[in-house]
Amino acid sequence: MDVEEFREFGKASVDYIADYIENIRKKPVLPSVEPGYLKNEIPELAPITGEPWQNILPDVDRVILPGLTHWHSPHFHAYFPTANSFPGVVGELFSSGLGCISTDWQSNPACVELEVRMMDWLAKMLGLPEHFLNESEGPGGGVIQNAASESTLVGLLSGKQKTVKQVLEMNPHLTDAEVKAKLVTYTSKESNSSVEKASLLASVPMRLLPTDADCRLRADLLQEAIDKDKAEGLIPCCVVASLGTTGTCGFDDLEDIGRICEKEKIWLHVDAAYAGAALVCPEYRYLLKGIHFVDSFNFNPHKWFLTNSDCSAMWFKNTKDAEAAFKVKASIPTEPLFEPEIENWQIPTSRKFRALKLWFVMRLYGVQGIQKYIRHQVSLAKYLEKLVKADDRFELLVSRLGVVGFRLKGNDYMTQKLLDKITERKNLYIMPYYFQNKLMVRFVVCSRLTEKEDIDFAWNEIKSIVADTYFRDSNPELKNKKRESNLNSTILSKVATSTFSPELNEKLKVGLFL
Ligand SMILES: *Cc1c(COP(=O)(O)O)cnc(C)c1O
Repeated sequence: MDVEEFREFGKASVDYIADYIENIRKKPVLPSVEPGYLKNEIPELAPITGEPWQNILPDVDRVILPGLTHWHSPHFHAYFPTANSFPGVVGELFSSGLGCISTDWQSNPACVELEVRMMDWLAKMLGLPEHFLNESEGPGGGVIQNAASESTLVGLLSGKQKTVKQVLEMNPHLTDAEVKAKLVTYTSKESNSSVEKASLLASVPMRLLPTDADCRLRADLLQEAIDKDKAEGLIPCCVVASLGTTGTCGFDDLEDIGRICEKEKIWLHVDAAYAGAALVCPEYRYLLKGIHFVDSFNFNPHKWFLTNSDCSAMWFKNTKDAEAAFKVKASIPTEPLFEPEIENWQIPTSRKFRALKLWFVMRLYGVQGIQKYIRHQVSLAKYLEKLVKADDRFELLVSRLGVVGFRLKGNDYMTQKLLDKITERKNLYIMPYYFQNKLMVRFVVCSRLTEKEDIDFAWNEIKSIVADTYFRDSNPELKNKKRESNLNSTILSKVATSTFSPELNEKLKVGLFL
């Protein structure tokens, strides 16, 4: 492909994407394909000779679109938002078009310096403390990671290294391996499954502690668990707190937990993957109470901050701790030309030029534009909350930021039926969640394109399913009938399995199949 063809292909592709987004509202959110559908549509071997670019777009239409779940459909209410905005798309295009990555400053000054500056813009926008800034006097700083899962792992590894060093200093007779074998970490049962995964990867066992009725990690139980572990000779090393749990958007109390971590010299990492974006609005900053106790903090601009994937922002109170865990000794030590050396606070060796899309997004929306977007999405969730409350067949269980959890009154059977039908009809995509031993519809305002009319559409769809099945199936005789395990609930539980913690998934399975 020569440069002229690239111009044509590129322009045609931008038009294609613009048309896709413009017409996305009309498509059913879920595709109607069977597993393995693609096999017959794509040859078994790559072409021997190159094809003209004009062959590609019709094939995207023919093969890809039919199998696509439309994550940006205004009727997509599953998982959490995944960011997609035009400035974000163009930022991605630039990143791959310029095609430059970076390691240290010398390898790509613009890439490193823009990232350093963008992380400070972001921290200031969210009202994070001064000591997290790259430009601050102290050892704090921020860097872009690829995912929240990776940020949690980086946090755990940093905390692990710090604890090992502290313990060895005080107990010189112990070996590195002896200390590592005794480490233990903590989080709540409502944490994202990636938190437990990070503990597996970091080889530190993790206690999944129960939460209170608002899905918050209980400080009293945390202290109890720490005391018990210490009494058994174990060494508590990290706590992962959540601001905005995946299931119900619960907020751990950073102050209560932080106080314990400070007293016990335990690393505190905060996973605010989704909800962190809301901090751009000052009315949510009360959630940051206790942030001065936090060692590392992460949120995903690629979730609710209009910046296309991948982009996960992570800050450290003391980046030297991360360096102790990640920096390898250079064979020829040199003085760095530029500080901070952000390349030492991450797992990969090189980094994509991800700061570009953040720069584009923050400039084109402005602080006010992003605040307006967050507030609008929250208002849509509030609107749904009102509709749910006004219908006495339903009970509202949760409403926080863009997450609304509700169910049909009575046992789980009717709610399960409702969820099955929603998936079967493909007009909405919503996930189940088990909360306080009850199955609920976990509805999230996800797409940037969702408007009030889409909430009405969703509610009408739900009401029509209920009208259709509720009175027929709520026959008391059916209550004890063995529950059907149809294909849809299988799909739902499979989807849920990948998102929530194993314990909750167990409950989900039980709820859906027994
Ligand atoms: C989505 C989510 C994650 C995982 O995010 P990735 O960037 O995909 O790793 C982690 N924690 C919470 C609370 C989340 O909502």
